[in-house]
Amino acid sequence: MPTRRDFLASAATVLATGVAAQMLGQHGSQAQAAPSPQPTTQPTSDNQKKLGWAIVGIGKLTDGQILPALAICKQSRLTAFVSGHPAKVPPILKKYNLDPNSVHVYNYDNYDTIANDPSIDIVYIVLPNGMHAEYTDRALKAGKHVLCEKPMANSTDECRQMIETARITGKKLMIAYRVHHELYNQKAIELCQNGKLGKPRLIITDHTFHLGDVNAWRLNKKLAGGGALVDVGIYGINATRYLSREEPISVTAQITETPMDPRFVEVEESTAWTLKFPSGLLANCTASYNAKGTNRCRIILEDGMIDMEPATAYMGNTLRDPKPIDLPHVNQFQVMMDYFSDCVANNKTPDTPGEEGLQDMRIIEAIYEAGRTGRVVLL
Ligand code: NAD
Repeated sequence: MPTRRDFLASAATVLATGVAAQMLGQHGSQAQAAPSPQPTTQPTSDNQKKLGWAIVGIGKLTDGQILPALAICKQSRLTAFVSGHPAKVPPILKKYNLDPNSVHVYNYDNYDTIANDPSIDIVYIVLPNGMHAEYTDRALKAGKHVLCEKPMANSTDECRQMIETARITGKKLMIAYRVHHELYNQKAIELCQNGKLGKPRLIITDHTFHLGDVNAWRLNKKLAGGGALVDVGIYGINATRYLSREEPISVTAQITETPMDPRFVEVEESTAWTLKFPSGLLANCTASYNAKGTNRCRIILEDGMIDMEPATAYMGNTLRDPKPIDLPHVNQFQVMMDYFSDCVANNKTPDTPGEEGLQDMRIIEAIYEAGRTGRVVLL
């Protein structure tokens, strides 16, 4: 049965670069996940130029993607972990060949004391969605810049609060939309915007996988905020916006659960929604926690068609228009983290600030309302 990992790493057979080959090891067990990171034990002058990152939450994304990416970052280095399970830290330090003296360890109780730690410039929130708002807020108030995983939070109210805290503290807040840093998606934006194939008229996205663990936090409403829509459907929502460079004006939706399935008591199983855009563009999108792993995007333009499958995976994305287009496969997490370090170092506004996460959350709330009421919801 395909898992979430399969969904994200699917079609990782199309690997063009050394980085891509390195990442192939991540398709499978965690034990295979690590490339051979360079030791960060020596405080070289290079290291001193890099901004210090604290990672909050040592789960699958941190272990499988973020730590391998940090090992190859040019402007970012790991200086701290924040974890509710400090016992996780020593094996992780060993696995990534990190010097225990150069990585400070905090827990959720003494988290606020990162304020006194000059080795931390940026905090990366990699916790369950329902914890994003609180831990972002506390990091900003501790005087740190924040990169927060998607979805930004559980509600638009929480998103607005996070944006306000960033404004008051004068710190930067970026949402981790890694796909914005991926070359196949950037090429798709170019093809949608340069007019050679006409304007995009229809966009179809599907993001699905089997979530088998009935105890997963992703099935808990308080921790997850919602089901497949907020977890993976958000890639379709965000893609329709960055591809079209338009904001939707209305939405219709249907939401379903398999009767008696114990997984879908608190959050939804499958959602299909249609977004209408000012230019007349329509986007038909789906997300499910109970369907074969799928990750794809089709854009039908006035004079052409673009197919991406996978479209938003960690690695191995493809693009046809209709001929296959070959581009290098970058490590999206490395590029994204270095990009944010650069924004902080040079006082630039990131291209996916809190407002970007808020807009997706507005659309998510409208989709849930449309699904619940059966009505067209205006945005
Ligand atoms: P995970 O379950 O593997 O890890 C979650 C971490 O949170 C663990 O360290 C866990 O110990 C900690 N935690 C603290 N309190 C918890 C609680 N009450 N219940 C469960 N865990 C708790 O999750 P993950 O897959 O690493 O996802 C973390 C975040 O990253 C989520 O917001 C998710 O949406 C996001 N994510 C993003 C991508 C991406 O491609 N950008 C991919 C996967 C996950």
